[in-house]
Amino acid sequence: MMKKITKSDKEWKEGLSSEAFSVLRKKQTEPPFTGILLENKDHGVYRCAGCGTPLFSSESKFDSGTGWPSFTRPLAHDHIEEEQDTSYGMKRIEVRCAVCGGHLGHVFDDGPKPTGKRFCINSVALQFEKQPKK
Ligand code: FE
Repeated sequence: MMKKITKSDKEWKEGLSSEAFSVLRKKQTEPPFTGILLENKDHGVYRCAGCGTPLFSSESKFDSGTGWPSFTRPLAHDHIEEEQDTSYGMKRIEVRCAVCGGHLGHVFDDGPKPTGKRFCINSVALQFEKQPKK
């Protein structure tokens, strides 16, 4: 189990851009094809922009054509939480950071092999840390 972080909206606002706050804390979605990490092909780790928890590896990133950074799997299954989301008249699975509860995006079953999953993640909810290729 990951240790949880709890903060008020006021506290979150102090440390996040307004775009990151509206996605992470208010479950908004960034416009497609706008995120700075969408085309990023560098080797490294994608961390939660709210709390720094490592969430995805560049090795699982793929171009889904949707306009949002897409991954086939999380770095560790206990670093994320999944929950049914029926907002906007759609049945989706919401993906959140397990540590700060920040909204990251959704996961769908139309991804490539081997997982068949597509973690569709808002760029603004992530912070990229470049790492040397091993
Ligand atoms: Fe987080």
